[in-house]
Amino acid sequence: MYKSTRDGSLAVPSAETIVRGISPEGGLFVPEEIPRFGPGELEALRELPYTGRAVAVLRKYLTDFTGDELSAAVEGAYTGTFEGGRPAPLRSIGTGRYILELWHGPTCAFKDLALQLLPRLMPVASRKTGGEADIVILVATSGDTGKAALEGFRDVEHTRIMVFYPENGVSEAQKLQMRTQRGGNVYVCGIRGNFDDAQTAVKNIFTDKDTAAALSRRGMRFSSANSINWGRLVPQIAYYVSAYCDLLDAGEDLSSGFNVAVPTGNFGNILAAYYAKRMGVPINRLICASNENRVLTDFLTTGVYDRRREFRATLSPSMDILISSNLERMLYELCDRDDGYVTARQTELRDTGRFAVEGTVRERFSGLFYAGSCDDSETLATIAETYRERGVLCDTHTAVAMNVSEKYLAETGDQRPLVTVSTANPYKFSPAVLRALTGGDVPDSFAAAEKLNALTGAPVPRALSELRSLPVRFSDVCRRDEIAATVTAHL
Ligand SMILES: *Cc1c(COP(=O)(O)O)cnc(C)c1O
Repeated sequence: MYKSTRDGSLAVPSAETIVRGISPEGGLFVPEEIPRFGPGELEALRELPYTGRAVAVLRKYLTDFTGDELSAAVEGAYTGTFEGGRPAPLRSIGTGRYILELWHGPTCAFKDLALQLLPRLMPVASRKTGGEADIVILVATSGDTGKAALEGFRDVEHTRIMVFYPENGVSEAQKLQMRTQRGGNVYVCGIRGNFDDAQTAVKNIFTDKDTAAALSRRGMRFSSANSINWGRLVPQIAYYVSAYCDLLDAGEDLSSGFNVAVPTGNFGNILAAYYAKRMGVPINRLICASNENRVLTDFLTTGVYDRRREFRATLSPSMDILISSNLERMLYELCDRDDGYVTARQTELRDTGRFAVEGTVRERFSGLFYAGSCDDSETLATIAETYRERGVLCDTHTAVAMNVSEKYLAETGDQRPLVTVSTANPYKFSPAVLRALTGGDVPDSFAAAEKLNALTGAPVPRALSELRSLPVRFSDVCRRDEIAATVTAHL
């Protein structure tokens, strides 16, 4: 059963957490007990392909689904949809150093790992909860979730999807990917505001009783495809389990564990690594990498979360976030699951823009995490250096994690194997990556991609090159205070 971070008296089955997305009082759903792999159980997964590993993880959490339901969803999500046939290949980039490449899916970013699967779980979950209502998926995106959710949910029966992205806060390729989206049940709209504005507006719509009632009269209900939805997080745990199996296969000595470095915005991806650790994967340090919006770095080093600062538009736009939703789940775990404590901190954050943790909670955060940040010029330098020294072309988000990985190693001298999570294909951010390598300024995304291809030989994914010839279907833009009205008008 699942509880809410803000109401421990709730107990809902996993199917319901997926359909609802967020708890009615605004909290996030969390498993009542974090399952563990028994002795030998994890190692046995080495024999299985990625799909088998993913099913093993899902079975531990989604206990009200049958094994057949989970297998069917996983096979559908990961068979034939990822370039090269492997959703999460672990690539060696030097002694004891690896990158976990999570961008071989249909939209070229790691969000595909969860958003190919969630749309296959949602209809099953809806049936289980006795829902007759059509589901309306509302998404606020910093760039990659929107496209991945659109691709996953397009033309799924009894489902509609509406995506809101910051007009001036995503890359050209990301914007075009969304504006050209195919499918009969999709809607896309830019907003004049940043990701936090979009996310806050969408969260408010979810918990607004009048809107819910109006929807219900029309036979519809809202759900979420953002990482506030438990169904988004649980597929992400699987790739940390898989990486562990692959490290063993590579012959690494994991007797004192390994470290993972994750480029972070909404804290979803790194939270999945934490759950994997709790399940028995021997992860030592969780390295939390931020860009110039370093609200998490500051929180993890000082204990004070303070969003009252200038929002920066950076070269890693998918991490341009000051309200990091999933930190709430982490806080819940580290304060001994005290719903009153979490509610008080979240209320403080909403009302004053800051909160602080002290004592044991703060110590636990520092014990688990290393935090670092990387500005745009360091990001560019890291892309150039990683290409020159390791022959690896990384995107701007991956570069943030690479940079903070190096800072961690320089500071600690830690010899354990280190897995740096690679979250997007470099061609999603071609102008920035090209600038890193040549210093040249080619603002047009397609021209930059061609130059980058000529320079490095790295293939341009077809999903990105074909954008040039696809018709733009959605060019609406609204103000942030018009999001609710836009949603109602389009239903
Ligand atoms: C979403 C995203 C991130 C941040 O992931 P969170 O789960 O929000 O922390 C990092 N890199 C890329 C490319 C992304 O799309």
